[in-house]
Amino acid sequence: MDPAAPLGSSERPVRVAIIGAGPAGFFTAEALLRRSAPEFDVDLFERLPTPFGLVRAGVAPDHQQIKSVHKTFEKTAAHHRFRYLGNVAVGRDVSAEELAAHYDQVVYAIGSAGDRRLGIAGEELAGSHSASAFVGWYNAHPDFVEFPFDLSHERAVVVGIGNVALDIARVLLRSPDELAKTDIGTHALEALRASRVREVVLLARRGPAEAAFDLRELRDIAALPGVRVQLDLAQLEAAEPGLAELEPAARKNVEAMLAMARAPRDPDAPAAERTLRLEFLCSPVELLSDGHAHVRGVLVERNQLERAADGSVRAIGIGNFLELEAGLVFRSVGYLGVPLPGVPFDAKRGVLANRDGRIVDGERVVPGLYSVGWCRRGATGVIGTNKADAHAVAEKMVEDVAALARLASEAPGAPGATPAARTHAAVDALLASRDVRVTTFADWSALDAVEIATGRGRGKIREKFTSVGQMMNHLLRSVRDDDDGA
Ligand code: NAP
Repeated sequence: MDPAAPLGSSERPVRVAIIGAGPAGFFTAEALLRRSAPEFDVDLFERLPTPFGLVRAGVAPDHQQIKSVHKTFEKTAAHHRFRYLGNVAVGRDVSAEELAAHYDQVVYAIGSAGDRRLGIAGEELAGSHSASAFVGWYNAHPDFVEFPFDLSHERAVVVGIGNVALDIARVLLRSPDELAKTDIGTHALEALRASRVREVVLLARRGPAEAAFDLRELRDIAALPGVRVQLDLAQLEAAEPGLAELEPAARKNVEAMLAMARAPRDPDAPAAERTLRLEFLCSPVELLSDGHAHVRGVLVERNQLERAADGSVRAIGIGNFLELEAGLVFRSVGYLGVPLPGVPFDAKRGVLANRDGRIVDGERVVPGLYSVGWCRRGATGVIGTNKADAHAVAEKMVEDVAALARLASEAPGAPGATPAARTHAAVDALLASRDVRVTTFADWSALDAVEIATGRGRGKIREKFTSVGQMMNHLLRSVRDDDDGA
């Protein structure tokens, strides 16, 4: 690197740290590295040794097609100006301030690690769980594999009717034999084999026209052998007169549900072993205890809809209550970002405070700091949504290079300047001084090969490592074996 060369030239590329190796992080790296002017040099930091964020630990194991986007990320990782720094937690191993000192631009792509609460009594009872914990558990995320999910109850209730709720329902209802071929954690597969859950009830506070799921997700469940989808025809017919005014996706949802509810039963079809029940227009008001601090059911209030002047539709309780027995309750009501020390946070929206991806402190744009993906816009959209988001934020970063160069010429320590700290060697030395064992993309490739080989031996797509300790031990053993062999 030539410190005297202009910022963004091949002799002095813009040094970028991206925090978080999920889709938003990788798509941002891709958008920056494909440019020839200005040129960027990307260090991608990830808390775990394993990359790909929700592609690995969020997408359900029976949705392998969606996971294939990792091939695009691998191409980005092969770029000569890309480095992967796994097993480095920002906020623990290195601070936001230190990153700002070592890079010209820092992009946070840390997702939404928190989950929304219901804010009702009984939420803390045993048997009441967040969707994110269950999703992490079946996907063998090291933070969640030890979670105690008791599947010995016949009915599970999922609060919320978005795509995550449908993922949870499908995993609970699908035959474990089918899941056995996927990359589901073996601990979860064994628990699902022993599961006694026969009915999953999705609780939607609003009506069929406001359901947040994508139709293909409901169709996936309806197509499962031995699974029946139970809908209330009267509730659906109440939404029918308004069909023409709905957005296309909502209209298709309602039409498909109406068709499902009206379809005549085949008298020769075998009785369904498991049921998905969709309950619209009800809100949980309390999780009921069995007297031993375990949930035994949900107290639900019926709602009616109210349309506001701005066209939004709200659910209003009508004082009509019912009890739904259930030993297992998931709240699947969306995710929220969590603050990161040193980065302004917008607590109201649950995102890093930003204006179109540029981090702001009050009204002031913080030069060289960005956010992308869920931590920028909130937990909305599918994986592909992050591509457009990443490209838009990368454009802002490109626009800002000239201003950064100006700032650098005025103040030598400012982003865009070239102090000694702004090199690979300085970052590596800082992490080494803290005994952080940074893992590379080659390390991930080695772990990947082990997971695939172990999985193949068990008739699965892969068998994931379930703890960071296991991963690091494996990598250490490989280094020792190499040294012994040399
Ligand atoms: P979501 O799509 O925002 O759905 C949240 C659900 O929770 C909505 O039905 C919402 O109802 C309900 N809700 C919120 N607060 C509630 C409350 N206090 N009481 C009762 N219900 C409440 O969130 P998500 O399912 O967690 O998904 C997050 C994002 O990931 C979405 O963009 C989703 O599409 C995406 N995703 C995609 C896939 C896929 O493509 N296969 C899979 C998983 C996730 P209201 O509408 O009434 O607010």
